[in-house]
Amino acid sequence: MAIPIPVNRSLNEIPVYQPGRPIEEVARELGLPAASIIKLASNENPLGPSPKALAAMQRAIAHLNLYPDGNAFYLKQALAKKLGVQTANLIFGNGSNEIIEFLGHAYMAPGVDVVVSQFCFAVYPLVTKLFGANLITVPAKDHAHDLPAMLKAITPNTRVVFVANPNNPTGTLANKDELRRFVDAIPANVLLALDEAYIEFLEDHADFVSEIRDGKRHNVVVMRTFSKIFGLAGLRLGYGIAHPDLISAFEKIRQPFNINAIAQAGALAALEDDEHTRRTRENNSTGLRFFEEACRELKLEIIPSAANFFLVKVGAGQQVFEALQLEGVITRPMGGYQLPEWIRISIGTPAENERCLGALKKVLG
Ligand code: PMP
Repeated sequence: MAIPIPVNRSLNEIPVYQPGRPIEEVARELGLPAASIIKLASNENPLGPSPKALAAMQRAIAHLNLYPDGNAFYLKQALAKKLGVQTANLIFGNGSNEIIEFLGHAYMAPGVDVVVSQFCFAVYPLVTKLFGANLITVPAKDHAHDLPAMLKAITPNTRVVFVANPNNPTGTLANKDELRRFVDAIPANVLLALDEAYIEFLEDHADFVSEIRDGKRHNVVVMRTFSKIFGLAGLRLGYGIAHPDLISAFEKIRQPFNINAIAQAGALAALEDDEHTRRTRENNSTGLRFFEEACRELKLEIIPSAANFFLVKVGAGQQVFEALQLEGVITRPMGGYQLPEWIRISIGTPAENERCLGALKKVLG
């Protein structure tokens, strides 16, 4: 049946975002017990949430009759201190996905150009098209952002450029000096959305946050999340770091209570649990090395990754994804990213990594 009231035209041009498949959904479909399935599909933290966050969230439950603090006062104070910025530099979103949507509300409209890289995070094109803006996709170089080419692609109508560093789904990291030259060269009337969802997995990286704090970067918003290293993807909490004037504009866009009370309590505790983030980082580098070595032995091409996942070339990606699923291992097929020969595997616990590798060997014969 046709929809009796036509929806906005932009909606006809975008697909629904396809997330990694939930364990319960695969269990229902395959008639397998949920406990027998592992999910290495959404770049989550395999060690779970911080125990301190769990305890804080338990305590917060008792007060759910009350609305949350609409300004997330304590969380914002703690995060500002941790990052060395002012609270006026921060805005929270329901996942960093919501920050991306704020950018749409603030800057995108028909006639506006948005520059992204080939193999960029899928939500950038979705939000761009949702707001009727024009997407300029710059071909990748060795699966990574071609920053000089992205700079050249900026038009007088460009308002937003997205760069994820490290990038999802490729895991590639921009060269520090090249990134700095790129950020310096972005025109003052173009906003650079620097997506650092996976930055905490790196020991050392280019630092634009301190420059935002010092008021030197008026046209950069750094986006980060509690979904990855902090192990709180289910809470839905991300944040943007930017010049106070930009933050004030975004504040008008967000819903009054977009960060729920449990998320505020859990994230506040997680921020203080350095031991958990340290263990997560360590587990991740061990897991990455494990897969790199195994894939080298199996003569499987991978893309060297700086994040908590990696791409491996398996041939018929969709088929391998489905066969792995029958083995109880959920990964991510990459056809939607124009990488049909590849699958993306998130780093798990050592046991999960072993299991995934065993299944991969079986499936690939
Ligand atoms: N940016 C990138 C590059 C991502 O990979 C993701 C999650 N897959 C996000 C943003 C969104 O994360 P969240 O909404 O969970 O904070």
